[in-house]
Amino acid sequence: MIVIKKKQDCCGCYACKEVCPQKCISMQADEEGFCYPSINLEKCIECNLCVKVCPVLNQASTQKPAHVYVAINSNADIRLESSSGGAFSLLAEKITNENGFVFGATFDKQWNVIHNCTSDTNELNKFRSSKYVQSSINNTFTKAEELLKNGKKVLFSGTPCQIAGLKNFLRKDYPQLYTIDFICHGVPSPLVWKTYLNETLSMYKISPNTVRNINFRDKSLGWKKFSFTLQFERRGKKKHITEVFYRNYYIRGFLHDIYLRPSCYSCPSKGGKSNSDITIADFWGIQHICPELNDDKGISLVFINSFKGESLYKQVEKHPKEIEYETVVQYNKSIEQSAILPHEKRELFFKKFGQEKISRLVIKLTDFPLSERIKEKIKKIIS
Ligand SMILES: Cc1cc2nc3c(=O)[nH]c(=O)nc-3n(C[C@H](O)[C@H](O)[C@H](O)COP(=O)(O)OP(=O)(O)OC[C@H]3O[C@@H](n4cnc5c(N)ncnc54)[C@H](O)[C@@H]3O)c2cc1C
Ligand code: SF4
Ligand code: SF4
Ligand code: SF4
Repeated sequence: MIVIKKKQDCCGCYACKEVCPQKCISMQADEEGFCYPSINLEKCIECNLCVKVCPVLNQASTQKPAHVYVAINSNADIRLESSSGGAFSLLAEKITNENGFVFGATFDKQWNVIHNCTSDTNELNKFRSSKYVQSSINNTFTKAEELLKNGKKVLFSGTPCQIAGLKNFLRKDYPQLYTIDFICHGVPSPLVWKTYLNETLSMYKISPNTVRNINFRDKSLGWKKFSFTLQFERRGKKKHITEVFYRNYYIRGFLHDIYLRPSCYSCPSKGGKSNSDITIADFWGIQHICPELNDDKGISLVFINSFKGESLYKQVEKHPKEIEYETVVQYNKSIEQSAILPHEKRELFFKKFGQEKISRLVIKLTDFPLSERIKEKIKKIIS
């Protein structure tokens, strides 16, 4: 049976919980807010299936993609709603238009991030855009398996470790299953997210039931200068709070790696180890590599990892523009490297978490970009 000796040895993918024939594994959140399996020993029959499906214990070897393409969704509204160029929606629409099912991460009514599925093209917007929180897989692996056994087409999207967990859980290659992961910087704690959200709502005196949307990658100030936006209603009028990423305390803490899941500092599934068919990413560095495409509206990279992935992508994009893997890697470190553990800062954050506000902790533990500090000084002098 599965034993977690070190927290970094569990990425919280739910595969062990879902595969257990005795249903004796439950996922329990620790004091940082990350879920880990807990086993009811009285019910366990020591079948070891949980060990066999674990993506940390059963890691595939790294592999480079066969092709890397540049992707832009021709629908301007969908592209605007997406984190980068809207590549996910191109592929997802293909599946729902053929009566298939798409799985992805969305918000629940309390703004927790959870995995869910739809077969309705009009509902795909709920999956669009990156949510910088670990999503809860719940029973979606089992749901996907049921659909596949009934011959349905399924596209499952998630972090590389979620896709690796799904593949191990299924223990069989279904021809009508397509998997998409993304280049993953790491996932922050759901508890830190909810605490930050509650602090923000209380600071601005916003009632939780008036929140209409939350976007971690709002492009209204540009794609590269993305913002965190919270939309709400006050006295019948639409209002919003928009903060550019380095001014928003939650995003700043995320980008400084101070509250990522422990497994993200030694990721078990990066570098093609998830065996996904397609990997999507932001095309960072586009201004140096393809300046002619650089319109600051968001561009995706699409990494093709399998024949199935190639065939699906060629159905939505007949003449994709190819680009060298080595060229894009230098501008997007997360493609191959895990986040570097800021030991003292992470420890200090969680030591004080719950006692001090997240904004105060982030101010203490992270740096404001030098260029912005200079701009602020100049503004102050002028004013
Ligand atoms: C936590 C996180 C870290 C990331 N780190 C990087 C990075 O370092 N470098 C990089 O190039 N790209 C990173 N990305 C991916 C990037 O932000 C875009 O998702 C990607 O470029 C595809 O964008 P798109 O426009 O094609 O589609 P979008 O519409 O933005 O696609 C969203 C897709 O991501 C899935 N998704 C969103 N949030 C989550 C979540 N919390 N858990 C699981 N799945 C989720 C949705 O289900 C959907 O399939 C990260 C994404 C997330 C969620
Ligand atoms: S060994 Fe088998 S029964 Fe026991 S927890 Fe693991 S999967 Fe469940
Ligand atoms: S990584 Fe996944 S399968 Fe392994 S112990 Fe954690 S939740 Fe279970
Ligand atoms: S960095 Fe690795 S371990 Fe962390 S969420 Fe992403 S894929 Fe999973």
